[in-house]
Amino acid sequence: MREVKNYIDGEWTEGKSETIERYNPADQKELVATVAGSSVHDVNEAVFAAVKAKKKWAQTAAPERGAYLQKVAHLFEQYADELAELATKEMGKRFVETKGEVYRSAAILRYYAGEGLRKVGEVLPSFDAKNLFFTKRVPVGVVAVIAPWNFPLAIPIWKIAPALVYGNTVVFKPALEASATGARIVELFAEAGLPPGVLNFVVGRGSTIGDAIVEHKDVDAITFTGSNAIGSEIAKKAAARGAKYQLELGGKNPAIVLKDANIEFAARLVVEGAMKQTGQRCTATSRVFVEKEIIDVFRTHVMEQVRRIRVGNGMDEQVTMGPVVSKGQFETVQRYIHIGKQEGRLLIGGGASDDVGWYIEPTVFDSVSHRAIIATEEIFGPVLSIVEAASIDEAIEMANDSIYGLSASLFTNDVSKALYFIEHIEVGMVQVNGETGGAEPQAPFGGMKQSSSGTREQGQAAIEFFTAYQTISIRPHPNM
Ligand code: NAD
Ligand code: MN
Repeated sequence: MREVKNYIDGEWTEGKSETIERYNPADQKELVATVAGSSVHDVNEAVFAAVKAKKKWAQTAAPERGAYLQKVAHLFEQYADELAELATKEMGKRFVETKGEVYRSAAILRYYAGEGLRKVGEVLPSFDAKNLFFTKRVPVGVVAVIAPWNFPLAIPIWKIAPALVYGNTVVFKPALEASATGARIVELFAEAGLPPGVLNFVVGRGSTIGDAIVEHKDVDAITFTGSNAIGSEIAKKAAARGAKYQLELGGKNPAIVLKDANIEFAARLVVEGAMKQTGQRCTATSRVFVEKEIIDVFRTHVMEQVRRIRVGNGMDEQVTMGPVVSKGQFETVQRYIHIGKQEGRLLIGGGASDDVGWYIEPTVFDSVSHRAIIATEEIFGPVLSIVEAASIDEAIEMANDSIYGLSASLFTNDVSKALYFIEHIEVGMVQVNGETGGAEPQAPFGGMKQSSSGTREQGQAAIEFFTAYQTISIRPHPNM
């Protein structure tokens, strides 16, 4: 059991708000953490510490800033098992998945450590021939990192690492459901010797301290990943006081299976896309459009794949799907399953049990209209809807008929159809013969429409949010 506290200006201090007990979603008897929730006062102290540290950190050589990230990457690998176990016990994802996330986080840290050695500007021609005319990327200042629980390691890291390497100081608030993992991440930065005040940590409910962070006049930028409801409120508050913001939000990600595809392969990846991490990925597959000629065969393969899934505690190697994260999520997903039974035909699953943990069966609905509630709203659980399509055009049209635009995949062996799909699908992350999930540190990640604020995270794209441009002219003395 861990006690989670604030980390402000290099000191761990007891949060001055309510104390919250957090239990393992796979085993409700196991107390994983007690969280001493931060108060508004704690938030103000954390922001103050970040402001105080801002100048010196911005003036630290970028390769030196990168070197801290290298050290943290090394520590992630050194403590991989422990970090993964903590994350699994805290939010329920399988150990192999959290362990994968540890290594992915290390890769992200190394990528951004390298950014400390790459260019931060360019020389431009000028209408004045003697002008040395160039751009320079400068830090934004104090960045608030507000993260969700579903990638408790990688999402905080893909925000914190670029924020730091480009010279910003940070106030980090993880989701309540990922507080202990968040605190452990911060401990590793401290162990790497990061100077006090550069990375500060507050914990608790968004409803208690969210506004204090978002509306603080000294928070220059807010990077948020989470739900659309919270994200759009943050955007309004940030815009009202002229703060920079970045939002990565929900999805309702479609897969399309054409009649020429390898159907068994497609079914395997669609089920994986839907059920991996218990469907709790922003890029999870939640709708699949299938050409009518192959829908019977596809359905059979889907059932076969789903029957193989073993639900249970993610620390058990035999288990292939963990619990959902919380009672709230358990109830939400069950509500959608109930709606689904009226909107379509329950093909497989539908059951749930809260005797030990928050367990829900992998669930597939068939004969669903693409306008049904279960086919339009983000469920964030192990629920897939199969929708029949008459053609690729109809499938793409239905796929695009959504407020979301995060990711999509197409299964086909016809390259012309793949090109056609790429041209017409309205999403940020496009997959051909792959599942809807997946991101790599060097590539921009994010969605279109209401899935994102239009900004992108990771890769070279991160510099756009975490720095501001200065455009500089230097002219010689007129006599020269
Ligand atoms: P959430 O919106 O409930 O919470 C996200 C974060 O916001 C948490 O840290 C929470 O404490 C905080 N928060 C809550 N109220 C706040 C307020 N009033 N002010 C400021 N912060 C506040 O999301 P979640 O339940 O943690 O995560 C699930 C959601 O995240 C899903 O909608 C999912 O699609 C989305 N998500 C998106 C991506 C992406 O990259 N697009 C990735 C992962 C998850
Ligand atoms: Mn939530």
